[in-house]
Amino acid sequence: MRRSARFARLFPDEELASIFELDPSRLKAAGKRGIIFDLDNTLGPRGAQELDGAVLELLDRLRAKGLLIGILSNDEGLTRGGLRAGLEGYPIYFDARKPRRQGFRQLLREMALKPEEAVMVGDNLFTDIWGAKRLGLYAILVSPFDPREPFHIRLVRLAARMILSLRRLLV
Ligand SMILES: [Mg+2]
Repeated sequence: MRRSARFARLFPDEELASIFELDPSRLKAAGKRGIIFDLDNTLGPRGAQELDGAVLELLDRLRAKGLLIGILSNDEGLTRGGLRAGLEGYPIYFDARKPRRQGFRQLLREMALKPEEAVMVGDNLFTDIWGAKRLGLYAILVSPFDPREPFHIRLVRLAARMILSLRRLLV
């Protein structure tokens, strides 16, 4: 495998400022049939008990355009009953252990999608993006929903930014 191909697996296919920039027509034209979203800091602030009306509308709009929607979260989901109720009708998996592949595989199976038909959208390079790329999903990195984050998370983001800036040298 060429070095560039090997390293390409570590990087998102796209970076967007937010989920509201997703273009369903373009994704469908590229053969994508479904989107798997990370939850915390992608669809809402970390630990949110309900999602913004605008976010729920976006999910409905994407679905109305013919895309299947699923949610894959590393949170254990023990205190997220209210959030779950608000997302009725969308498959949602907690405790997914991204970047491990098992959770992705389970959700893809439930959505009846092949990896190459699915898009992963998340804010975390080390879990959402790397996990998705390991399985061959198209991966979109979005900026965190809520930029006010604890120090240790900001360190993780700094590491991610450093790795992304190395991309020019590696790929
Ligand atoms: Mg997240």
